[in-house]
Amino acid sequence: MDVPLYLQPRLEPPLTSLLDAGGFLHSLVDALGSPLNVLLPERIAENAERFRAVYREHHLAGRVYFAHKANRSSALVRRLAAMDPAAVGVDVASLGELRHALACGLTPDRIMATGPKDPEFLWLAARVGATVNLDSHGELDQLVEIVRKYGLSRIDVLLRLSEFESAADSAGAGVRLRSRRSRFGSPAGEVSDLLSAVERNRDAVELTGVAYHLDTTALAEKVRALECCVQVMDECRVRGLAPRVVDIGGGFGVGYVADADQWERYTTALTEAVLGTRPALTWRGHGYGLRNEGGTVRGTAALYPAYRPTAGPGYLDELLSLPTPSLGRPSATLLLEHLHDLYVEPGRALADQCGLSLARVLDVRRTGEDSESGSGSGEYLVRLGMNAGDVSLEEHGVLVDPVLIPRTASEGSDEESPVGVHLVGNLCLEADLITRRTVYLPRLPRIGDLLAFANTAGYAMDFHAHRAQRQPVARTVAVVREGGTWRWCLDEEYWPITHPGGALS
Ligand SMILES: *Cc1c(COP(=O)(O)O)cnc(C)c1O
Repeated sequence: MDVPLYLQPRLEPPLTSLLDAGGFLHSLVDALGSPLNVLLPERIAENAERFRAVYREHHLAGRVYFAHKANRSSALVRRLAAMDPAAVGVDVASLGELRHALACGLTPDRIMATGPKDPEFLWLAARVGATVNLDSHGELDQLVEIVRKYGLSRIDVLLRLSEFESAADSAGAGVRLRSRRSRFGSPAGEVSDLLSAVERNRDAVELTGVAYHLDTTALAEKVRALECCVQVMDECRVRGLAPRVVDIGGGFGVGYVADADQWERYTTALTEAVLGTRPALTWRGHGYGLRNEGGTVRGTAALYPAYRPTAGPGYLDELLSLPTPSLGRPSATLLLEHLHDLYVEPGRALADQCGLSLARVLDVRRTGEDSESGSGSGEYLVRLGMNAGDVSLEEHGVLVDPVLIPRTASEGSDEESPVGVHLVGNLCLEADLITRRTVYLPRLPRIGDLLAFANTAGYAMDFHAHRAQRQPVARTVAVVREGGTWRWCLDEEYWPITHPGGALS
């Protein structure tokens, strides 16, 4: 076999020591089945603290809102509920998430409702007095109607904007740039109409800020959007409105792969494989969006940038430090000069390192040497007690290796050499591959071993899970390290308190 192309996961404490506790993880899967999700609620609190540290560094006030949609669990939201109310809140995108956040102990002043909303969601948000991040003009009209019809108190609202256009820069040399189209938010060009509507309906809504959420990692686009929001805030003040918040959404990202060279080597090799200058690196030569057109690689790889030199809080720091395109001062300075508060809504980045997904190895076999096709023949198939919906890293274009957790400590034999395998799921479906990538492991797994997919708490754990074929949906447990040992409970049993009897703290 040629040199293994590893994409080893970036692992930080306490995930590192959890992965070292192989016996503990095996006993959890023995008791609760495969697949199994394991969460580390302490880590989400630490991540929120890191975002807060960036606020402090830039002397900014405002709240960090966890985008609940990244993970359905209770443990993470309850752990956040226990933090400083002025510093940490939750962003909910459905009636179910709003109910859940309330039940986890978040008071309405710490809850922000985002995304397009149905009438029940709007009513409950308005009834309890959560902040409503308005997605469209129509939604503003609906909310106003609900507030009046049911005699509710005035509701704090933010206006979510999109499709920002930057004017030519002050020297007149700039190109007109527009951020990508989005299904969400109101086009920034229509903001005057929106503000007039807000003014007309001052009895029902109070404008507290303007917002954006751009689903991109492009910093330049975000700095431009931030500057636009500051300009809209100026327009508000001219009109006699008094908003105080700029909400820059989420999308701070996560680094999944530890090593820049591994990532570089892998992506280069993928291109070569698509060109046919090296053997396929994927199931049936899948190209992740790249294709060979007469000896030239075309298309763009639909991959998450799994190696990130800066992500999460570091990315926020970078964004706040960058000069904005027309005013030319760091975005943090702009916010500070205007006395604007900053809201962020990280999902993936707050869930970074907060959990893993475990699957038992059910079968290991080698496909027949199929002379017809060449590719797909004579390959190792490792069948897992999970399917592609249970660990949807692939769905999000995240390529990263699982960690092999042996059933028994082995003595080191001939088998202990690196091997490329395909990870297949528990559905009777040709397409049910955990990843289409050939995954390199330090040795061939054995039946009964576990594979741990690290860092799945953001979107990869329960977002796409389903009940096809009546295969079990993963249970979720919360784990906490206490005096050198790991303790666990079901996710729904986790509360961020200490019992005299010693339940999870
Ligand atoms: C999904 C979403 C987020 C979170 O995005 P991440 O990339 O997970 O940080 C934040 N705000 C809104 C409005 C969203 O829809």
